[in-house]
Amino acid sequence: MVRILLILIALLPALAAQAQPSDSLVIRKIFSYCLEEGKSYEWLDYLSNKIGPRLSGSVGAEKAVAWAKMAMEAEGNGSVSLQEVMVPHWERGTKQELTAISGNEKKQLRICSLGGSVPTPTNGVSANVVEIRNFEELEYMGREKLEGKIIFFNVPMDQKHYHTFHAYGECGKYRYAGAARAAKFGAVGSITRSLTLSFDDYPHTGAMGYADSVPKIPACAISTKGADELSRMIKLNPDTKVELTMDCKTYPDVLSYNVIAEIKGSVYPDEIIVISGHLDAWDNGHGAHDDGAGCVQSMEILRIFRDLKIQPKRTIRVVLFMNEENGLKGALKYAEVAKAKQENHIAAIESDAGGFSPRGFSSKCKFPEKTQVFNKWKPLFEHYGIFEWMTKDGGGADINRLEDQGTLLIGLMPDSQRYFDYHHTEIDTFDKVNKRELHLGAASMASLVYLLSEYGVK
Ligand SMILES: [Zn+2]
Repeated sequence: MVRILLILIALLPALAAQAQPSDSLVIRKIFSYCLEEGKSYEWLDYLSNKIGPRLSGSVGAEKAVAWAKMAMEAEGNGSVSLQEVMVPHWERGTKQELTAISGNEKKQLRICSLGGSVPTPTNGVSANVVEIRNFEELEYMGREKLEGKIIFFNVPMDQKHYHTFHAYGECGKYRYAGAARAAKFGAVGSITRSLTLSFDDYPHTGAMGYADSVPKIPACAISTKGADELSRMIKLNPDTKVELTMDCKTYPDVLSYNVIAEIKGSVYPDEIIVISGHLDAWDNGHGAHDDGAGCVQSMEILRIFRDLKIQPKRTIRVVLFMNEENGLKGALKYAEVAKAKQENHIAAIESDAGGFSPRGFSSKCKFPEKTQVFNKWKPLFEHYGIFEWMTKDGGGADINRLEDQGTLLIGLMPDSQRYFDYHHTEIDTFDKVNKRELHLGAASMASLVYLLSEYGVK
């Protein structure tokens, strides 16, 4: 008898993770509720059109914090608080100009400064331009050919990838580190081909970083059309020059906040499940897909649990992180405080891949076996178009700071085909988001949070 009992006890965690038939009814209700009565779209309209650009340290970011706090308090489900964090403050300025000159031909090409870049001198910087296809080529050419030049990293994202984030991942290093790598050889400026799979005239900004050991040189991104044009001019005339003028500026760090809402768990209050997005967004657009969508989808959980009368067994915490785009200071602060308080974060979900139709979840964990324990839940989601279940290398830039603590990290994976059309550009605006697609994403995350709160992570 004792033996049978022991076996039963040993089996308990596995049984616990098994969803019950009633769970599929709850999930059905969550999806119906989001599609009929969801508020994400209305919230996103406000965040995009009334607040708009909200890079860390800006007035927009300050307004977004106040608005998100107020909007979540108005739902009256759980407590809302602000977590202080110092964040960088960089401003784009008003000048972002590039003229390519080849003999008598002069062309203005569309660029934008990369976040964190130093400005050019007031009258700009003018130099011959050298086109580079990869870092190996840069090293090979060396100081002799690169000193005093402006380096043009013309590396297109690879069209062959089905998952566009893979293509993005391969090219990100040229945007982030191009300037520092070029400065090592005495270059005076850096131009990176925009990180997108589309061919248009919108330059895509993004974060860049310098190395302490080399001079800081101005860094910009050029539109894909502009990149092809510049490449054409260089091929015809290797003596092509570029005049680059930028007046961006870095200011002292500013006090800002992560916005946090919490519904206490009724049975296991010490087991925390985070649902999140990032509140900051690049200053050139409205951050509708990146990452207004993730914020409003996370906020939606407060309404879903309240209106469907779901009392979570475990604590659910909505975290709207500050400064994902150019520093991750909000995420680092959150993880630091969580560690100091010895909080037990069993799982964290982040939506930061656009407000498109959800296709799946990615996951990542210090204990990889944890990522497989939910395979039994997959059939509950297939009806809603979720077929990619807990694929590898998941999570999200903000929640990944909890990796050390053994938290199961989960990323919402929407259809990614159009994401990089808008990402970090002036056209990442509200009109690019579809209401039903956005609400399906919120429902997917809420359903997973519901199961996690019922059964935990064993
Ligand atoms: Zn983002």
